[in-house]
Amino acid sequence: MSNSILDSGAISDQTIEYDSPIKPLYDSIIEAFEDSNEPTRSRIKDAGKHGLINSAIFIDPSSNPISTPRAHSSKEIQLQDTYLSYLWAYCYSMIGIQEVTFDYYKPEDGIALLEASERLKQLQLTLDWGSCLNDLWRIWPDFIPQPTSESDQVKLTNELFLHTIRYLMYHEAAHLILHSNSFDLAAGIKSGALASNEDLRRFTMMEIQADEFAYNSLFGASDNEALKYMKTLGAIIAHLSSFLLLRSSNTRSRLHPDMDKRLRSVMLKANVNTEPFVTYLHFTIIVGLQVFLNKHSPEHYARLVANGPYDTFDELERDLFQIIEELKS
Ligand SMILES: [Zn+2]
Repeated sequence: MSNSILDSGAISDQTIEYDSPIKPLYDSIIEAFEDSNEPTRSRIKDAGKHGLINSAIFIDPSSNPISTPRAHSSKEIQLQDTYLSYLWAYCYSMIGIQEVTFDYYKPEDGIALLEASERLKQLQLTLDWGSCLNDLWRIWPDFIPQPTSESDQVKLTNELFLHTIRYLMYHEAAHLILHSNSFDLAAGIKSGALASNEDLRRFTMMEIQADEFAYNSLFGASDNEALKYMKTLGAIIAHLSSFLLLRSSNTRSRLHPDMDKRLRSVMLKANVNTEPFVTYLHFTIIVGLQVFLNKHSPEHYARLVANGPYDTFDELERDLFQIIEELKS
């Protein structure tokens, strides 16, 4: 998502003999893309007729460090197995943390709670493994279950993962459908050419438009509250998971809206009104941002803890966003 629009890089040929645990989900990923609501389905079909989008999803199986989803100049949406592995591990960890801690979590506990039990330490290790893929491809470790496993937590993870990747695919589809005449602009900016403020503004607007298209593509008229919650959580995880892949605590981007703003704009659009779903959404954001802050700026994380105790999730969330704002450069 962060490297969207155009990538001129060739697919590496560093594929080694390895049965990726994500591979059994490839077909479901392609089906998930086709499972949009009616307005999006028609738009993709029309765009296909006009040669704007090739709706065959390409999944790069090579064993390379993470490369985020992209809309390629070949009109294809490209995903990468390593990135999908990261995303699955992220979904699995967030669901696990929510299940294990939600009932007794207090805002003042912070994510120090991640050290509280062997189970939670293992989920932290899962996140660590996933984010290490940013620098170096590694084999899927034994301590993380595989997506084909039959446990309830894995089934729920698969469901969330597919909603998340749908959101990301529709984001890229939006670039192909809506921004085909901007590929030269994107290529120029990405190659480091001097861009005017107007160009940067246009680029940022395209990202906002693609996020909106992606969000609006998720929901069907007959979705019940639980399904709306899972789909919204997918959109939130799509943004939240990208925080952990940053190289620093700076969430400001030259070419995209600030990451925290993109996350908040999903929350503003969220059409989930019943408990416990509303609280679950906020809880996920609170945990995800704390994991990010603790990784990239432990001293600011310590400040967050010192600011406590917090009486409510809202207060903790407000402080988290405030600190993330201060860390922008
Ligand atoms: Zn984009």
